[in-house]
Amino acid sequence: MIMRKTLYLKFILGYFIFGFFGFVVVATFVSNMTLEHLKREKADALYEEATLVAMTYASDLYNSETSLDTVKHQLDALDIYLSSTIWIINPSGRMILDSSSPVNVENEIVIENFDPTVSSGSYYTVGNFFGSFDEQMLSVFSPITSNFKVRGYVVIHTPMSAIQASCNSLLNISYIMLVILFLLSLIILIFFTEIVYLPLRKITEATEQYASGNMHYEFQVDSEDEIGYLAATLSYMASEIARSEDDQKKFVANVSHDFRSPLTSIKGYLEAMLDGTIPPEMHEKYLNIVLNETERLTKLTNSLLTLNNINTKGMLLDRTDFELNRIIRDTAASFEGTCRQKSIAIELLLTGDFIYVNADMGKIQQVFYNLLDNAIKFSHQDSVIRIETNEKSNKVYISVKDSGIGIPKDDLKLIWNRFYKSDASRGKDKKGTGLGLSITREIIHAHGEHINVISTEGVGSEFIFSLPVSDIDDDI
Ligand code: ADP
Repeated sequence: MIMRKTLYLKFILGYFIFGFFGFVVVATFVSNMTLEHLKREKADALYEEATLVAMTYASDLYNSETSLDTVKHQLDALDIYLSSTIWIINPSGRMILDSSSPVNVENEIVIENFDPTVSSGSYYTVGNFFGSFDEQMLSVFSPITSNFKVRGYVVIHTPMSAIQASCNSLLNISYIMLVILFLLSLIILIFFTEIVYLPLRKITEATEQYASGNMHYEFQVDSEDEIGYLAATLSYMASEIARSEDDQKKFVANVSHDFRSPLTSIKGYLEAMLDGTIPPEMHEKYLNIVLNETERLTKLTNSLLTLNNINTKGMLLDRTDFELNRIIRDTAASFEGTCRQKSIAIELLLTGDFIYVNADMGKIQQVFYNLLDNAIKFSHQDSVIRIETNEKSNKVYISVKDSGIGIPKDDLKLIWNRFYKSDASRGKDKKGTGLGLSITREIIHAHGEHINVISTEGVGSEFIFSLPVSDIDDDI
């Protein structure tokens, strides 16, 4: 819960930091840049006017071609138009004309410390113009020249406050834009909520459910991006865990069942013998049955131990080079008795007289035993089981084929599972544990080889697996 909240809070915090810095940038950089720009623009415009005045009225004045009053009159008009004060001053600083006050010849005004080079290269200065003003002014000046000599200056002053005011109104537009942008970027927040936050919340909820053991919890994230992929992977993981949990439960149920039935019958027979229900002369027969049941329990325990060992440390193989045909013949021979009972014939179609393979002999014997045992169990009376070997590109392919009851299509994938017995075989084959094929496959896989089954219900089954041909086989 806390993690979820902070993610959202962090995003909103980031969002406000973004807004704050936006404001700071506008209030400092943008404000400075705008003011600088407006000042320059104003200075340029005023400079043009000042030059114009310097070249016309002012130089006329110095050449005595016009009167002070006429020029004053002209400049007054221009003063209003530019909303600025226009001065004409001598290089010494003596005021010749001031557009903002009437012509006064008696009361001479001299600007102390006037220094036309103060602007150091540029044509304007910002300040109180040598103490002439109380407020900050932008002062632009243009020299009045005649006969290549500077006779005076036209100076135009405009208050910085006016420029600042227009700068502020421009800045206001920037602030409004910033607010609009800020609101528009709320869209990102909405996207974030939709694309990241809500799916993530679903995923977190799901993981909480899984963590509390509810592996069947289902959730839906319908996006095709990384988050959708994460959700799909997570839900796949959960379903796999759920499946393996189910398998585990089934496994335990099967083990319990398979142990209970022989134990029940052993108990039953022993009790019956003890209380005399079974007369002493019949004891031998029933003791044999009990022995059979204990054998079955031993087999079951051994199989379980084998499987468990495979699980924990993989299967340790004791690989040797041995002759495969002999193993096949020996195993087939060991089933002679059972085969005779059902009058089943085992046909061997083996390539060559000898074929050497590199494998764990004991385990491969067990594979043949399991496959032949099944083939005989699920064959009809008077049928033939065929064992065939084929050598191809350094591998021997071994096939065990029967024409028995076959395996239903839906069961084909399941027969390799531990404890799997088809419904048909549960009835017929009371001795089967459902572990044989699972062990068989583990053995073949441990050799790095494969085993496959081809089967049609009612027609028969064929199990095919491969083994590596031994190197010494080439030398023989
Ligand atoms: P079991 O020890 O019970 O035979 P297996 O793992 O060897 O267990 O076999 C699992 C199931 O696969 C059997 O119960 C049976 O339904 C099916 N099966 C295996 N081999 C054959 C076969 N040759 N013909 C038909 N069904 C088979």
